[in-house]
Amino acid sequence: MGGKILVIDDGREVRDFLVKYVLAPRGFEVLVAEDGEQGLAMALAASPDLIIADHNMPGRSGIEVVAGLRAAGRDIPTILMTAQGSEALAKEAVEAGVSAYIVKPFETDEMLAAIGRALRDAQRRREVTRLAAELQTANSELTSRLRELEALTSVGHAITAHLDLDTVLGKVIESAVSLTGAEEGSLLLLDEKTGELTMRAAKNFDDEFVRTFRLRSQDSLAGQVIRSGQPFLLDESAPQKIKTTYLVHSLIYVPLRAHARVIGVLGVDNRRTRRAFSIHEQRLMVALADYAAVAVENARLYSNTEAERSKLDTILRQTEDGVIVVDQEKRLMLINPTARAAFGINGADVTGRPVSEIIQHPEVRDLLARSGDDLKTRRREVPLEDGRVFNAHLTEIGGVGQAVVMQDITHLKELDRIKSEFVTAVSHDLRSPLTAILGYVELLNRAGPLNDQQAEFVRRVRFSVQAITALISDLLDLGRIEAGFDTQKEPLQVPLLVRYAVDGLVSRAEQKRIKIKLDMPQSAEPVLGNPVRLRQMAANLIDNAIKYTPDGGTVSVAVRDESDQIIFTVTDTGVGIAPADQPYIFDKFYRARNVKDSDVPGTGLGLSLVKSIVENHSGRVWVDSKLGYGTTFVVVLPKHQEAQAEN
Ligand code: ADP
Repeated sequence: MGGKILVIDDGREVRDFLVKYVLAPRGFEVLVAEDGEQGLAMALAASPDLIIADHNMPGRSGIEVVAGLRAAGRDIPTILMTAQGSEALAKEAVEAGVSAYIVKPFETDEMLAAIGRALRDAQRRREVTRLAAELQTANSELTSRLRELEALTSVGHAITAHLDLDTVLGKVIESAVSLTGAEEGSLLLLDEKTGELTMRAAKNFDDEFVRTFRLRSQDSLAGQVIRSGQPFLLDESAPQKIKTTYLVHSLIYVPLRAHARVIGVLGVDNRRTRRAFSIHEQRLMVALADYAAVAVENARLYSNTEAERSKLDTILRQTEDGVIVVDQEKRLMLINPTARAAFGINGADVTGRPVSEIIQHPEVRDLLARSGDDLKTRRREVPLEDGRVFNAHLTEIGGVGQAVVMQDITHLKELDRIKSEFVTAVSHDLRSPLTAILGYVELLNRAGPLNDQQAEFVRRVRFSVQAITALISDLLDLGRIEAGFDTQKEPLQVPLLVRYAVDGLVSRAEQKRIKIKLDMPQSAEPVLGNPVRLRQMAANLIDNAIKYTPDGGTVSVAVRDESDQIIFTVTDTGVGIAPADQPYIFDKFYRARNVKDSDVPGTGLGLSLVKSIVENHSGRVWVDSKLGYGTTFVVVLPKHQEAQAEN
């Protein structure tokens, strides 16, 4: 068996018997006391594994020895021996904490069995006590982990819940100090321009100290952490020199990382107490530093975005152009003050509403109603009630929606009007002298015979005067149409007037061996129009087709009756128009660059006339052309019924 046993008995015989015959032969180490008092003192001093005590002793009884041990906080299993066993004594013994109870005289085996039981019981009790202690340690360990986790979660939550950096960093420092049990904590950020560290948040530091704190990062411990990117733990074992320089007993510094860059340091320290920090606490600090870095980075990104947004906002507010942005569902996302003023929009709460509810102007609504890449439909002139005119341009913004930018072109329109008036006046005044020149040129050969050279000069003069007269009459027509003088309109058959126009040009086509193909119904539903102008429009387009098609080509003229529109097209197999020229060919005096003036003479006014006439009839005209292959002009005119229904 083995173990240390203390025998307490005032009777020598019993003591000897126990020592010599029962305990020593079984290898127990035996201590002997002769009375209760001595026994208690020996038990307290030697801490035996087991005590075998007589109950009935002078001075201190066996039960009183056990009670004395209890009182001293010692739990040593004890077997009580008694001469006369009684139930009351047995009860008293158990209550006092005696492990076993044995009545004298006893057999050796009986005593040995009791010893074995008592030792086993004691062993079990020790085991249970150890387990309970371990459980308690584990429990308190768990509680403190839980507290750490809660603190970390709450810091994490603060990052998502607060945009205010001070609040978040304050929470980080608070948690750092409380989780590590430190006396004070600080968060230093690196100013990359000056290389200095400033204190962005602190716990238990003087406010004034925090505000004025500046540290050169090169020669500090924090700077070392920034450079190495590694945490730093300073404890009692660290060189005294560092501790005295920093006036601390222990310290943890961990780096704040954002995108592989170290932007600052989170630190805690103890100045007064000697309490050391653990690696576990350092790990907690690393987790907190990660949170702090995310918060600092978030705040930086947020303030960058905010700065950009406010810059853009200022630009949009102060620009003189009107800007309207709608999303893909045509809901208003943005409208700047210029655009608001233009359409008289006062309400503050217009964003998010369908743009059609907010802006009633037909041109803008029409512009926003279209999508696709048709260049011509992306621009509109927007006349306002106050007399101003805006040029509105629609742009598709991928993933966002559409933007309309409007420029005030009132002054340009006014200039255009003055120019047109001037041109009309000059043209008008030129007409009479030109007629006179032509008259006298015609009369020249009646005044006497001309030699060949004179006759050739006269022919050239006549040709030039005729060209100028044609130009002037085009200019006057344009002026008249633009001024809206051609208001007389009647129901007209488009196929009929196209046929007249073709008839007038057949001989020119024949000169160039150009085939004219006609494809149109005998009659179609009428349009409301001015017969002279519409015929002029058709003639100009067919004339151009013949002019810009090389000898032997084909010009196809077609009229189609389609639901509420009449569609007139002229297609040729000519030189075509380059994409770069296409947006401008309807402008006055514009001539495309692919044809030389000397090859095909012209004024650049024909298509402006066509456009003015078509628009004057509420129609649309556009061109479709491929350089070197041919051109198609399309004119769409609304039918008469339609025109009436609208009025
Ligand atoms: P022009 O008097 O020069 O013909 P227009 O206004 O009728 O003036 O036409 C403007 C320009 O458009 C022309 O100079 C020419 O470059 C181009 N153009 C017009 N019609 C055609 C066509 N059918 N084929 C090729 N180019 C054309």
